[in-house]
Amino acid sequence: MTAPQQVTATWAGLPIRADLADRRPYGAPQLDVPVRLNTNENPYPPSAELVAGIAGAVTAAATSLNRYPDRDVTALREVLAGYLGHGLTAANTWAANGSNEVIQQLLQAFGGPGRSALGFEPSYSMHPIISQTTATRWIAADRSGDFGLDTDHAVATVRRHEPDVVFLTSPNNPTGTAASVELIDAVCAVAPGMVVIDEAYAEFARDPGGTALTLLPRYPRLVVVRTMSKAFALAGARLGYLAADPAVVEALQIVRLPYHLSAITQAVALTALRHTDELLATVSAIRAERDRLVTELRAIGLQAADSDTNFVLFGRFADRHAVWQGLLDRGVLIRATGPPTWLRVTVGTATETATFRSELADLVASQPELVLR
Ligand SMILES: *Cc1c(COP(=O)(O)O)cnc(C)c1O
Repeated sequence: MTAPQQVTATWAGLPIRADLADRRPYGAPQLDVPVRLNTNENPYPPSAELVAGIAGAVTAAATSLNRYPDRDVTALREVLAGYLGHGLTAANTWAANGSNEVIQQLLQAFGGPGRSALGFEPSYSMHPIISQTTATRWIAADRSGDFGLDTDHAVATVRRHEPDVVFLTSPNNPTGTAASVELIDAVCAVAPGMVVIDEAYAEFARDPGGTALTLLPRYPRLVVVRTMSKAFALAGARLGYLAADPAVVEALQIVRLPYHLSAITQAVALTALRHTDELLATVSAIRAERDRLVTELRAIGLQAADSDTNFVLFGRFADRHAVWQGLLDRGVLIRATGPPTWLRVTVGTATETATFRSELADLVASQPELVLR
């Protein structure tokens, strides 16, 4: 594990872009503690069989590393389309180094100077950050009070701002709940530009049928972004992908770097996708653990938001930093994100989640003043 990031403005004298000069690198602290529940990773490492399969695929790919990889990522896109279903083909899909790179390519092509992107906050902080680094003006819209998103509110907001790109995270990070397909449909119907649905947590949704993929045939400017970092337990491999109209995929070829996805990454992702059933089996275990956690947090007198993801937003705290620090002192790392009186915990293995739960219960029992009643 890397040490906590030392942030020093070493570039102070450099001619960095003025709009980046006061920025700091983004990222959750990576601290080496026994229970790490802060970045929504899947807690289950690959099986010995999958590790062996990946090793074999990497060995095979290594024999031709003198050559550039398949620039069009054809084999992988075909398998990803098959996984998504909904009649999608390779022409509808695109892949890159994590969904963050997919989002960056989308903003390079459809955002940029003089253009705007809109999101409903609190939501995934990389959407505004990548907007800023691509010189796309960010419009921070709000959600309704209960962290949900109201259809009329979303439609009116998009109508008012007419952004070039709308971001909707569903299920949402950090609040945890999914937007309905009806809401996404209504936003697509009024959005003047691209609509990007970030479905990083789709496989964890309580209604797995509630995906925006069903709307793709009707909206050629709709993009559904997915990742292998969460449900597929492959965060370290860096593989994100999208589904959209083939014209969108073609437009992205303008901004993608040639050979952006290494032969190693393509081989690893293809091998993992051959183990889809095994990898997704962890999803049902995590979902069950998540629902249990929500119930138990409520049982100790806390509020916990319903979740369609592999994390739970819970509160409310008079001083959330004190709770975050108190848990860290007990060897449990979670994330101080979301509305100011709430905290977010990733669902881990049954053992990790139980440790979190008992340390938290102990902490709030010994310092009840931390909890807002
Ligand atoms: C975790 C997460 C991602 C994943 O990003 P990768 O670059 O694919 O690892 C994307 N979107 C949201 C909303 C997330 O929470």
